[in-house]
Amino acid sequence: MSRTETCPRIEALSALVDDELAGADRVALDAHVTDCAICAPVLAELRQLRGTFAALPAPEPGVDLAPLVDRRIAAAGVSAPKPTPTLRPQRWRWWQLAPATLGGALSLSLGVYLGGALVLGSQMAAQPAALQMAAFTAIPPGALCPALQACNSMGR
Ligand SMILES: [Zn+2]
Repeated sequence: MSRTETCPRIEALSALVDDELAGADRVALDAHVTDCAICAPVLAELRQLRGTFAALPAPEPGVDLAPLVDRRIAAAGVSAPKPTPTLRPQRWRWWQLAPATLGGALSLSLGVYLGGALVLGSQMAAQPAALQMAAFTAIPPGALCPALQACNSMGR
């Protein structure tokens, strides 16, 4: 790297690949790239990339999406937002409201039922705990009472 000039930006190399440079700029860049160890592989890669893109099938040019979209909007607009000034305001019938109220009542009763089951469940869960605590009494579990009075006095 005995040269004092710095490497061009990659945009310049891309412009060179795309034949967008002309005149002195192109000559100077060509001269730099041919004997620059950094730019030469970059330029080769850009050329290869350009070739790859050129090999791709071209997207259909000249297709203007705007009229297509306009047509779609027009097609949708004809049927969809038809204003309804001619229609009488529709009245609510009781059977139209019935499913909603029925559903509300059903969910409410279900909630009450589930809540009750939850409370009941906690009470049921508390009982086995008391039974487990009974294991810590003086009399070992499964022991026979020597006399009926002895067990009664222990609270059993
Ligand atoms: Zn360079």
